[in-house]
Amino acid sequence: MKSVIFILMGPSGVGKTVIGHALLRRFKRLKKIVTYTTRPQRPRETNHIDYHFVSPQEFERKVATGDFIEHAAVHGDQYGSAWHDLDALRNAGNSALFIIDIQGAKIFKRKLKDAVTIFLAPDSLESLRARISRRRSNESREQVERRMETARREMAQKDWAQHVVVNNQGRRGDAIQRVAQIMKSHMYPPHT
Ligand code: 5GP
Repeated sequence: MKSVIFILMGPSGVGKTVIGHALLRRFKRLKKIVTYTTRPQRPRETNHIDYHFVSPQEFERKVATGDFIEHAAVHGDQYGSAWHDLDALRNAGNSALFIIDIQGAKIFKRKLKDAVTIFLAPDSLESLRARISRRRSNESREQVERRMETARREMAQKDWAQHVVVNNQGRRGDAIQRVAQIMKSHMYPPHT
């Protein structure tokens, strides 16, 4: 198996987390990179499993010491992925899954050109809005609109990714299958 870096992107609410976890279950040698964030921990999240939750000061310190491959502000909070997490995973011979936003992915790709970029797209912006509103019922109209605005901006850039997979409403299994095929083709390239 080749050790490959995969970047999974897509607008908030498209299903990156659920699909990412299904892929991690399918490929034993694929490991998620836990990234750093300054945003508050949500009720069902676990520190060091979902994210490394850090203070803004600690985040700044890590930026200053060059710990991050890339970092970006998303919806007003800071997010970053660290070199040492990637190194540890690669040294163990595993492939890496980064679930990050598209602006971070662009910086990332400049530094690690071999990374494989996969964009998960909703079948329509309307179905995305429905999913965001349903899942985050505690969010205000403005917050939903803010996510939708970011989603529109991200969707406009989707063709930058090497692979675009549509997560059709009610057919998540198909999207998982398609991403799995893409991953397999990179981890187990045919001999030429
Ligand atoms: P959430 O706060 O909803 O978990 O994530 C918000 C966004 O930040 C998602 O698009 C997520 O993929 C992205 N994100 C998470 N970690 C990182 C990171 O290390 N770098 C970048 N650029 N984006 C990240």
